[in-house]
Amino acid sequence: MPNCKQCNQGFEISNEENALREKLTGDFETGLVPQPTQCLVCRMRRKMAWRNEMTLYKRDCDKTGKSIISIYPSNTDFPVYSKNEWWGNDWDAMSYGREFDFSRPFFEQFVELFNKVPKLPLISVNTENSDYCNFIWDSRNSYLSYCIYKSESLIHCYWLYHSRDCIDCSYCFRSERCYECTDCNDSQNSKFCILSHNCSDSLFLYDCRGCSNCFGCVGLRNKKYYMFNQKLPKDEYEKRLKGFDLQKQEHIDAVKTKLNALRLKLPHRYSIQDKTENCTGDYIFESKDCHNCYQLYNGRDCINVEDSDCEDCQDSYHIGWASFIYDSYSVCNNKSSAFSIQCDGGSDLFYSYCCYNLSHGFGCDGIRQNEYCILNKKYSKEQYQELLPKIVEHMRGTGEWGEFFPAHLSPFAYNESVIPSFYPLEKDEVLRRKWRWKDDLPFTKGKESISHTELSENISDIPLSVTNEIFACDECGKNYKIIDQELRYYKNENLPLPKNCPHCRNANRLKFRNPRRLFSRKCDKCGESIRSSYSLERPEIVYCESCYLKEVY
Ligand SMILES: [Zn+2]
Ligand SMILES: [Zn+2]
Ligand SMILES: [Zn+2]
Repeated sequence: MPNCKQCNQGFEISNEENALREKLTGDFETGLVPQPTQCLVCRMRRKMAWRNEMTLYKRDCDKTGKSIISIYPSNTDFPVYSKNEWWGNDWDAMSYGREFDFSRPFFEQFVELFNKVPKLPLISVNTENSDYCNFIWDSRNSYLSYCIYKSESLIHCYWLYHSRDCIDCSYCFRSERCYECTDCNDSQNSKFCILSHNCSDSLFLYDCRGCSNCFGCVGLRNKKYYMFNQKLPKDEYEKRLKGFDLQKQEHIDAVKTKLNALRLKLPHRYSIQDKTENCTGDYIFESKDCHNCYQLYNGRDCINVEDSDCEDCQDSYHIGWASFIYDSYSVCNNKSSAFSIQCDGGSDLFYSYCCYNLSHGFGCDGIRQNEYCILNKKYSKEQYQELLPKIVEHMRGTGEWGEFFPAHLSPFAYNESVIPSFYPLEKDEVLRRKWRWKDDLPFTKGKESISHTELSENISDIPLSVTNEIFACDECGKNYKIIDQELRYYKNENLPLPKNCPHCRNANRLKFRNPRRLFSRKCDKCGESIRSSYSLERPEIVYCESCYLKEVY
């Protein structure tokens, strides 16, 4: 068993992992990629170090001086251009090209190039009126939302696809008019629901399907007018519903406590999967033969892949519509690539960053539409094929070949990146690893202009001018504001103003998702061995797939 070069712990490489690596990388033009030298979690953290989703800065565009919103703060070593300037035609990434220097390590040369090439301020493609959003595609009129696709009118949302008019929701697809919902697909006009699909006009549901007009229910299928899993006549349901004054936060909390007690009495599925065959992991949909994967859609033959929609991929994160991708982060519409970041289109990329429609690229940054490039310098196909094996050989000597970009070279500090959301580390450990920790993150504390105790508990009495006030989060103390559309929603729906900041609200919703890790345990009903994201210490009753289906449907 090898020891992880990062954390020193022994880790296993399974036969399946070896076989898939050989299958994926055997035909790469660089030749086969060697076995990993870091454990799985260290490998995933190393990639996540390069993703900053929610830490946004105001800074100037280095081309026009115009103020822009960016994932990079002011005074970066590299220039940052506004989106329009970056996509404009009066600069050329190829002009930064350089010869590969065989007397020096590769990463050192890549960093020199990286620090010269202009960067995109955020990932925002075909969007309208959504300036404070990042990782957003084909969407409009949204605010402080991240990982958004084909959606509109979202506020404080995370991972919403094909959705509209939602506030404070996470991981929802094709949903409308929802509030504080997590993992709810095809749902409308619902609030405080978790893992519930095809539901409407409901509140506080957990693991329900096809329900409408339900309140405080767990594990129901196609029910109407149920309250705390009890069937009521329509008028009685409506009468009792009126009795819940959700304007008071303590009433919301009391319902959540009651729902949680009910939840712990009922069986949980060992893993969240839908339409899958032979898969292990959690949150896997329409996939086959995928192992240790999390948040995976349409996967085939994947191992150790997270937040992706892809086939034949390994050790990767945020891969979309791509195949034969190895140890990469955010590579889309691409095939046969490894150790690359944020590349869209093209194929056969290695150690490349933010390239669009580049094929056959090695160590490139910011290139659009080209082929056969090394360190942003163009070669003929023959020259490229001659040089590539020499570079790989050189990198074997320096110990760099087969290693993803080191985390300490990322432009983001640990606490700007997404690592803390998935695989957190203590500050001491971050510093011990020589990764950066940032003390001046772009938020304020102590600048609040009002306290919640100064405001009426009646949402209808709260003046519209409250959108000019600055609040302090009850949990983390960070300042935050309430925007106009939010306030109007709370007033219409008789809901209280949130007392914690949008980041804490999102983090609290995500607490209902298990950690991205599997534990060996037995089904609490039939005793069959299962690999579940519920550890043995967890209070939930955990059933295997067939026992769960027998009980719940
Ligand atoms: Zn490790
Ligand atoms: Zn907070
Ligand atoms: Zn069972």
